[in-house]
Amino acid sequence: MFVIHASPPVVQVNSNYLKLKAGYLFPEISRRVQAFSASNSNTDLIRLGIGDVTEPLPSACLEAMKAAIDEMGTSSGFHGYGPEQGYAWLREVIAKNDFQDNGCDVSAEEIFVSDGSKCDSSNILDILGEGNIIAVTDPVYPVYVDSNVMAGRTGKAGSSGQYSGLFYLPLSEENGFQAQLPEEHVDLIYLCFPNNPTGAVASKEQLKRWVDYAHQNHSLILFDAAYEAFIQDEELPHSIYEVDGARDCAIEFRSFSKKAGFTGTRCAFTVIPKTLKGKAANGDLVDLWSLWNRRQSTKFNGVSYIVQRGAEAIYSRQGKQQVRNLVSFYMENARIIRQQLHNAGLKVYGGEHAPYVWTSVPKGMNSWDFFDHLLEKANVVGTPGSGFGAAGEGYFRFSAFNTRENVEMAMQRIADI
Ligand SMILES: *Cc1c(COP(=O)(O)O)cnc(C)c1O
Repeated sequence: MFVIHASPPVVQVNSNYLKLKAGYLFPEISRRVQAFSASNSNTDLIRLGIGDVTEPLPSACLEAMKAAIDEMGTSSGFHGYGPEQGYAWLREVIAKNDFQDNGCDVSAEEIFVSDGSKCDSSNILDILGEGNIIAVTDPVYPVYVDSNVMAGRTGKAGSSGQYSGLFYLPLSEENGFQAQLPEEHVDLIYLCFPNNPTGAVASKEQLKRWVDYAHQNHSLILFDAAYEAFIQDEELPHSIYEVDGARDCAIEFRSFSKKAGFTGTRCAFTVIPKTLKGKAANGDLVDLWSLWNRRQSTKFNGVSYIVQRGAEAIYSRQGKQQVRNLVSFYMENARIIRQQLHNAGLKVYGGEHAPYVWTSVPKGMNSWDFFDHLLEKANVVGTPGSGFGAAGEGYFRFSAFNTRENVEMAMQRIADI
């Protein structure tokens, strides 16, 4: 970024933004894809890169939204500003279906409906103090790191790309892509299961270790469950609140984006248990629910009535079936990707309870070399593991979000290289 010494002085910018690494992952992918396309005009590329869904919205959601639009055109059915926390009827079906029916103690009041987990998992820093020691995994969903950089919670990035002031928990083949508990004290821990980008999952015992650590260290876990709907094994936990004691140490983020094709429709929610406490500078205990409620009421005006009606329909009998079909469709894609990459001689991870397959790259190549190799030789676009953090070097992510035809063709082309 350019820093111009202006005279006379102009307004000050948030200098934390200047610490962000210039070559952010997805713009760099676009740059390479564009450069390749410009000199190879009639090749059709297959994109298994960015994690966006491809299948249409479930019809139950579509019908509910159409009906809501019609209501909005009548004087009796018109809705203006809704509650900032989300409509009670949506929060109640969420609390019942996603938590209470699975034995989790979460009430409708503890659910805050929003327009995305990306915003919630970044905005949560608004209510947390500056002195916290923050742990993230490496590789990681880049939003957790960049939002901390923007909020001034880190120092500068070093040559490896890691920021000073963040505590990195490396994920690797050796630890089965499960972060080890920090040996030192950390205050905030970002966890994401099923994981983006590695596709790894955590058992209840593994989550319990984090909850125990958080209790011993008075830490707060920020648990991202955006991919819970992709879990295939009934033994695996969908929510951190399936672990006893998590109500006192964890916030959970959920999203309808991947589960029900809402990436463009926008609806998600965050659970803040009323039992969660933090401490003020004077040592007084403060409940996080009240702070988040205040934050949302001040800075957010809720998700549209129409979209919340669409989200409610996810929990109808038809909606649940349609979501199951959607998830099965993508998971069959993931199975095909796993199988074919394995046949092509790559080591494959993930893709069994998550729509991402994580692979090691062939010997002698780094992640970006493999990206270029696939782009040029197979006309397939994936995501280099190093884009998710220094420890992602040597790995590569394939997304299962595409049509069956494209997935099969992409895998055929890779097999033919
Ligand atoms: C896609 C994704 C989300 C969902 O973000 P939205 O803003 O709700 O669309 C959250 N966390 C992770 C790790 C994701 O990959």
